[in-house]
Amino acid sequence: MKDYLKQYPDEKGFFGKWGGSFVSEELQAEMNRIRDAYFKISKSHDFINELRSIRKHFQGRPTPVYYCKRLSEACGGRIYLKREDLNHSGAHKLNHCMGEVLLAKYMGKKKVIAETGAGQHGVALATAAAYFGLECDIHMGEVDIAKEHPNVVRMKLLGANVIPATQGQKTLKEAVDSAFEAYLKDPVNTLYCIGSVMGPHPFPMMVRDFQHIVGVEAREQFLEMTGELPDAVTACVGGGSNAMGIFSGFIQDEDVALFGVEPSGRSLKLGDHACSLSYGKEGVLHGMRTYLLTDEKGNPAPVYSIASGLDYPGSGPEHCMLKDKGRVTYTTANDKECLEAFYKLCRYEGIIPALESSHAVAFAMKYAKENPQKSILVNLSGRGDKDIDFVVDNYGTGDEYFN
Ligand SMILES: *Cc1c(COP(=O)(O)O)cnc(C)c1O
Repeated sequence: MKDYLKQYPDEKGFFGKWGGSFVSEELQAEMNRIRDAYFKISKSHDFINELRSIRKHFQGRPTPVYYCKRLSEACGGRIYLKREDLNHSGAHKLNHCMGEVLLAKYMGKKKVIAETGAGQHGVALATAAAYFGLECDIHMGEVDIAKEHPNVVRMKLLGANVIPATQGQKTLKEAVDSAFEAYLKDPVNTLYCIGSVMGPHPFPMMVRDFQHIVGVEAREQFLEMTGELPDAVTACVGGGSNAMGIFSGFIQDEDVALFGVEPSGRSLKLGDHACSLSYGKEGVLHGMRTYLLTDEKGNPAPVYSIASGLDYPGSGPEHCMLKDKGRVTYTTANDKECLEAFYKLCRYEGIIPALESSHAVAFAMKYAKENPQKSILVNLSGRGDKDIDFVVDNYGTGDEYFN
């Protein structure tokens, strides 16, 4: 795994056999333009310095690494958090959005466009667009618009247009379809900013590179704090951007075990979960070869998770490769485990986590219990303010866990 980041993806955007760019000729021409611009611009001193300055002065980076004393005492083991919930706008997504919109600016684009699931990517992109003074269109499933009201309001306040996706299940997958379609109508003035390490090349690579800062910081901070590397690092996996961000900082440290956590939802019946790496099979979706959850007809299956940001039937291609190589272990946490972790992080640490991130916390709690002498670092991808009404209205305040 030497020089890992330089080695993957290959020139055509493949991570082993995964990824690539399975798109129309028309879209391919745009992807090539974006790729060439990214390779050129991302190496320029102006770009690097501007991004560095934004991260420090606007985003509030570096975000801290934090030791969960009370949660660790309750579980055994040592649980640490990389606090991406403290990143400006409340999640890791601003890391790639500031990079993508900065690229849009250097490319002379007037507008950015994207899909969003829980609304986190939409808010992050709207934030970045406001910062740079670009127009912003966000496509969002109707179901998610109803569920994630505060984020919809945020996007509007930040000046974005929120465009409802009304087809099919009316969630993330349909929002991606709708955004791709709109993008093709005006690719010259627009940059499509994908919200995770997915889609056609160069997006899985670009988004990973912009998220890489999380892993770089976390590794340095953990070393400084403890004098050693963590025994394990974990993150939840929807498309897989927060996971690739933190994993990429440790991928060459072969003694550090890496765990990606997928949402096993209500049950392992098709339609009740979104564990594409654990239970999917090879397929093509949204321009990439990926592990895909499919129905009997081979179409992308309906998926579900209590966390809107995780309900996607595919996964970033780099994760598919890392699974095959065995470098990352992919595991699952269900809705119930996620909720327990959510409540426990609230009460033991005074931190309200996003439901997405709570899946990784749930795994860390399990790992800590089974490995009392070991340390585990969780990428706490976002804060849970967006989820509190939904959780309390449907599941209460969690008192039953503390009697
Ligand atoms: C969107 C989101 C995720 C899932 O996206 P990845 O690309 O898998 O990281 C996880 N956590 C939070 C807080 C999110 O907003």
